[in-house]
Amino acid sequence: MSVLAQGTAPDSVATETSSRLELLCVEKGLRMTDHRRVISRVLSDATDHPDVEQVYHRAVEIDPHISIATVYRTIRLFEEANVIERLDFGDGRARFEENRDTHHHHLIDLHTGRVIEFQSLELEVLKEKIARTLGYELIGHRLELYGLRRGQPTAGLESESECQEP
Ligand SMILES: [Zn+2]
Repeated sequence: MSVLAQGTAPDSVATETSSRLELLCVEKGLRMTDHRRVISRVLSDATDHPDVEQVYHRAVEIDPHISIATVYRTIRLFEEANVIERLDFGDGRARFEENRDTHHHHLIDLHTGRVIEFQSLELEVLKEKIARTLGYELIGHRLELYGLRRGQPTAGLESESECQEP
């Protein structure tokens, strides 16, 4: 299997004046206010697929005047402009990530909630093949894997209070 795990180390773009996402927004013709710039920076710097609350907490650390309503509105705007993507990892919280050039998928660790990004050429080829076999041209797709580390006890998954030590 040619599965490439992607590094989760934060990019060293924090020193630059404009975040990647901000440049993308400008390219799409969005008017960038100070608040939108801060929120785009937070999303660009994130390596952990944050939800709205998490984006809000990080944004107010940069600019305490940003309200949660602004974060909601801005995220919706970014989503509509297709510069960020909404992700659903099955826990009822919408998460967001910047649209990057590199297409990737997610594996969610059901024990820790950790999200691992991966790429697989074999998977890409297989998806195309499945669609073609069914008489379709593949336009888009979504794939999330859910798993437990091998050797991890499965008990405690139903009730979160029942947390077992490995
Ligand atoms: Zn991702």
